Amino acid sequence: MKSVLQDKKECYICHRTNCLQDHHIFFGNPKRQHSEDTGLKVWLCEPHHQSGKDAVHRNRKTDLMLKEMAQTYYEQNIGTREQFIVEFGKSYL
Ligand SMILES: [Zn+2]
Ligand SMILES: [Zn+2]
Repeated sequence: MKSVLQDKKECYICHRTNCLQDHHIFFGNPKRQHSEDTGLKVWLCEPHHQSGKDAVHRNRKTDLMLKEMAQTYYEQNIGTREQFIVEFGKSYL
């Protein structure tokens, strides 16, 4: 997996290194593909990805925390806020 947000293969939230799944920070079409192309993806352990109470697909706070982090990276390294909104639909900052 190509991630611009992580060097290590570990859960972005709790740093465990087993039961990992890759997560596209912006999901749904066509945002998922833009996440793929730009590397705005992270490794998450299964509980932080899907099943736990703080899981990104169940908990809006966790989802927004990752989206804000990824948009900040985008604006510092990839493009402008205007470009971000064109690709990902809206600003989270
Ligand atoms: Zn985790
Ligand atoms: Zn996911």
